[in-house]
Amino acid sequence: MPRLLERLQDEITALDAQSLRRRRQIAETACAPAQSLTLAGASAPRTMLGFSSNDYLGLAAHPALAAALAEGAARYGTGSGGSHLILGHSRAHAELEERLAGWMAPFIPEAQSLFFCTGYMANLAVLSALGGAEAVIFSESLNHASLIDGARLAKARVERYPHCGVAALDAQLGACDAPVKLIVSDAVFSMDGNIAPVAELLALAERHDAWLVLDDAHGFGVLGATGRGVLQAMGLRSERLVLVGTLGKAAGVSGAFVAAHRTVIDYLVQRARPYIFTTAAPPAIAHALLASLTLIEGEEGDLRRARLQARIAQLRRGLEAILPADGSAWLPDSPTAIQPLVVGDNARAMQAMAQLDARGLRVGAIRPPTVPAGTARLRITLSASHSEADVARLLDASGDALARPWKEAA
Ligand SMILES: *Cc1c(COP(=O)(O)O)cnc(C)c1O
Repeated sequence: MPRLLERLQDEITALDAQSLRRRRQIAETACAPAQSLTLAGASAPRTMLGFSSNDYLGLAAHPALAAALAEGAARYGTGSGGSHLILGHSRAHAELEERLAGWMAPFIPEAQSLFFCTGYMANLAVLSALGGAEAVIFSESLNHASLIDGARLAKARVERYPHCGVAALDAQLGACDAPVKLIVSDAVFSMDGNIAPVAELLALAERHDAWLVLDDAHGFGVLGATGRGVLQAMGLRSERLVLVGTLGKAAGVSGAFVAAHRTVIDYLVQRARPYIFTTAAPPAIAHALLASLTLIEGEEGDLRRARLQARIAQLRRGLEAILPADGSAWLPDSPTAIQPLVVGDNARAMQAMAQLDARGLRVGAIRPPTVPAGTARLRITLSASHSEADVARLLDASGDALARPWKEAA
């Protein structure tokens, strides 16, 4: 084997030895609580009850959205034909941006929006474009990888601030005399489910003349009375807000948007390389997203958000009742669809996941370095399409898994 290949293989082998090698499973059927999956190395699929999707409203396989996608393809074809600045920007993209701008208008003065192929690219775009050489980026320590990578791509200096550390951030901002400051935070933290102190962050942005970039990947569609996300839930309004929302999670399709004052959006169109140098997503995707927004803001969205809330309450009540008395597992305060059951020890998390797996239940086990040492967890995510019986099944199996003794990792 050439030496170059050997080097790669050595690294993969080392990951394998630490049980850190990642493998994919193949979904044979649409995203739904009960889904047929072929696991890595398995010869036949199994039907599993899953608690790890980001399909919070259960729209990923909604027939109305599949029909809208087909209608969009019939109208616009499959490919966009080019980048947004050349000829790929279709009427469907423009309409979607207008709808989203209207959604955000109560929270951002003179709001406009810009559609991206993915949230990852939207975050790269915002941070690299606004974080020029004269800027400093203040990055929350539990931020998503895409924000971290966006900060790396930016020419700005990057300072991390402690998780939800409003006082520390205040001091860091006060000590900074850069002409451009960006506060950057997940709105809902992806491994813990808690919501960032966004009102306090905005107050700091106002006091220190900074932008506040919020990544609402897990809030859009779910939080707020009509699903417009964290800004609606918290009742914020400012021209300093730059909101990134993703459209592949609760919205059930794919893509993302940035909403901000029209000058920010115009600047991104001129300067954001992840916007400019890539082929526009198929117009049919934008067409399907228009249908998704109609569902999210309508009665169906209300119903689904209420169902999701009921499942969250059911799960939390049930888990609280089965937590071991010795405090060796705990449930952080999360009001969202992301519900981590922290079991501390890595081996215990793996063992619990295997026990759930044996009973046909799919839950992710998250270990360091993704989360701090000693906080390995089962990361449960809920969807409006989970039934009361689905959650009851998870609770039943979790009770058994938690009751089992476990071997401390060597
Ligand atoms: C999923 C996610 C993203 C990336 O969005 P994609 O559309 O999947 O690329 C960005 N930020 C956070 C917090 C996420 O959870």
